[in-house]
Amino acid sequence: MQIILVSRTKKVPKTFNLADRRLRWRLLGLAALAVLGCVGLGGALAMVVVSPHDRALSEIRRLHQQVQQQDQQLAGVRKDAQRDIDALAVKLGQLQAQSTRLNALGERLTQVGKLDDGEFNFDQSPAVGGVEDGSDNGYALPPALDTSINQLANQFDSQQVQLSALQSLLLDAKIESNLKPTGMPVEGYISSYFGGRPDPFSGHSAYHTGLDISAPTGTPVRAVAEGMVTYAGERSGYGEVIEIDHGNGYMTRYAHNSKLEVRPGQRVHVGDVVSEAGSTGRSTGSHVHFEVWYKGRVVNPLAFVKNHR
Ligand SMILES: [Zn+2]
Repeated sequence: MQIILVSRTKKVPKTFNLADRRLRWRLLGLAALAVLGCVGLGGALAMVVVSPHDRALSEIRRLHQQVQQQDQQLAGVRKDAQRDIDALAVKLGQLQAQSTRLNALGERLTQVGKLDDGEFNFDQSPAVGGVEDGSDNGYALPPALDTSINQLANQFDSQQVQLSALQSLLLDAKIESNLKPTGMPVEGYISSYFGGRPDPFSGHSAYHTGLDISAPTGTPVRAVAEGMVTYAGERSGYGEVIEIDHGNGYMTRYAHNSKLEVRPGQRVHVGDVVSEAGSTGRSTGSHVHFEVWYKGRVVNPLAFVKNHR
């Protein structure tokens, strides 16, 4: 058998003689190559078809590992959270102890201030309940801890209100006490008391409207309470005199001064020097004539000068 290949470019057709042994071997080799190529292609094709499955498998393995890691992390977080809650519980305990101490302090203050017990119930925990706080901030504390914290917060609120009220009451009391004549206006000894006594000039019975405190000329005379100077000048019989209105019904008068140190309208505090002792007016020697008036009536100053602030 012969195969004749005719080509346009070549003038002479190429002739293959199949009877030729060499050509037969070459054709066989070509066929073998073709088969081998087909097998290789099939294998590659198989690889392409199978690989998504393999990829999915490896992906699943990777995800497995990831989940495992996350699980470990979660366990860590859980442990941390527990530690935080434990720390929180300890802190809560400390705050509760502080609250108890505050209560004790409040009670003691109430007693010291001689305030009405009914108004300040530091040992009584405030009413708990009412409208629930609907806000949900995403944190969920163990219910017991949450309730304790809420109770404590309420307790602190109530304590704050009570302590503020207590403070203002005590401050008022202090201001009040600063407005009340207390103590001696000058260092010296009482030479004449309030009330009936023989007039040192005429010898007739007269009513002494104040206390006489013997003190050398120039001795500083001090305001016995906070107030405003309403008079500074001469008055018949009193000589150079200072008068202070304390705004709560009390007025004090310091007479026979040698020198005045304040002027009308001036505010004075407890212990401020208002004048210097002397013997102006109807006086037999250097002293301070001290009067206390309450709601327009002259009163015995003795109780006031004997008091201490
Ligand atoms: Zn007098």
